[in-house]
Amino acid sequence: MLAIIDQIQTALGGNAGLALGYILLAVLSSHLVLMAYSSLTRLVHERTQQRLDRERLETLVLAAKYRYKEAQEVIQGWNGYRKFTVSQKSTECEDVNSFYLVPHDRKPLPPYKPGQYLTFNLDIPGRDKPVVRCYSLSDSPTRPDCYRVTIKREKAPPDKPDVPHGVASGFFSDHVKEGDLLNVKAPTGHFYLDMTKTTPICLLGGGVGLTPMLSMAKAVAESGSRREVWLYFGCRSGGEHMLREDLNKLRNFDNIRVVVCYSRPARGETKGEDYDREGRVTIDVLKEMLPSNNYEFFMCGNGAFMKALNDGLEAWGVPEKDIHYEAFGPATVKKKSAPVSAAVSAGPACKVIFAKSGKEMEWNPAQSNLLDFALEQGLRIESGCRAGSCGVCSVAIKSGSVDYLKPPDAAPEGGSCLTCICRPKGDLVLDA
Ligand SMILES: Cc1cc2nc3c(=O)[nH]c(=O)nc-3n(C[C@H](O)[C@H](O)[C@H](O)COP(=O)(O)OP(=O)(O)OC[C@H]3O[C@@H](n4cnc5c(N)ncnc54)[C@H](O)[C@@H]3O)c2cc1C
Repeated sequence: MLAIIDQIQTALGGNAGLALGYILLAVLSSHLVLMAYSSLTRLVHERTQQRLDRERLETLVLAAKYRYKEAQEVIQGWNGYRKFTVSQKSTECEDVNSFYLVPHDRKPLPPYKPGQYLTFNLDIPGRDKPVVRCYSLSDSPTRPDCYRVTIKREKAPPDKPDVPHGVASGFFSDHVKEGDLLNVKAPTGHFYLDMTKTTPICLLGGGVGLTPMLSMAKAVAESGSRREVWLYFGCRSGGEHMLREDLNKLRNFDNIRVVVCYSRPARGETKGEDYDREGRVTIDVLKEMLPSNNYEFFMCGNGAFMKALNDGLEAWGVPEKDIHYEAFGPATVKKKSAPVSAAVSAGPACKVIFAKSGKEMEWNPAQSNLLDFALEQGLRIESGCRAGSCGVCSVAIKSGSVDYLKPPDAAPEGGSCLTCICRPKGDLVLDA
């Protein structure tokens, strides 16, 4: 150090003070440079940190938005059709199969209300347009990872053996297999059990009409509720005894009573083992077994089954508000007071012309809706949900207008009407 000072001093003509000043200045400058450098690197580091923090925050916001969207989808279902894989197909009994469906995207499934159904859009070979059909969810809504539907193959009616068998149910029975992909709309439907209530319920299922009833009974069982449930299932014999294992498991709950009625037990089938009662599910059976008529009744089955039970319940004094039903086909239960507004039900008698079929008919205000009216007259109009949701029964209006019994879930195309939930306002010409 001293040598350096000597050299500087010599260079500065022997001035020691000046040399020391230069040295101090050099030290001070290098210190300042160091400080500036460290401030600069700190600043750069802070900037980088801020940028990283901002990016992390943006990622978190994006993830939160995504999770919110997913949660919304889980709560509300999804729009349009979603692909599902058939993860399992199992035979329930002759001509009835259950299909277990998992979402192809593996994302969570929205819960559904027991009694609701799925709508399928099926590409069936040989058909020029997709076939849309609805099938009730037959399992408990607490099953989180998959949906189950149970489908009966519809054969040609006995009085019309030459007409084709059911298109969609035949396709499901014969062609749909494990691993296949199906287009499915989110669960929907207004026929469901309100799980917030505790009123005793009586569930009446005829044949494949058992499906929504089973979902309701299983929902009560799995919720741990002590709600009183009577579940009646009617079929001909063991060959039609579907979903047997599920029904038997329900017998383990002391608030749930399962009654299986065989109208024509096969030889070798034993009462008490295979079934509970011989005969159909009738109002007399209910009167005999139920302690009172003070139940909410839910029913689903063929036309004759529902009509007989509905008439019987009404005659027994069960209020209309406590009788709920789902029609898988043309509605045959005609309420004493149809569930329509006074303005709609008091509509004028008028003419309905089905232009393509060349049929002209007098509309009777007592009819429930245009779809059933057309079917009763022997016309064939495609239908799906029968609840103003799937849009399959939409028909173009050539002239006139209609009144809706309830607002459609999805508005029909302009100039068309959803025949399952509307009635003519006056003279009407339909393109059917
Ligand atoms: C809300 C809801 C839930 C449902 N849930 C279930 C369920 O859980 N399980 C279930 O199995 N079904 C259920 N269905 C019924 C289902 O949607 C179908 O209607 C059923 O599978 C028949 O459809 P398909 O295409 O097989 O028969 P389609 O082809 O529609 O034929 C129906 C019937 O008409 C006959 N037919 C064909 N052509 C003629 C003709 N020219 N003249 C007279 N008759 C003819 C056929 O032979 C058949 O018997 C439900 C329906 C609704 C509305």
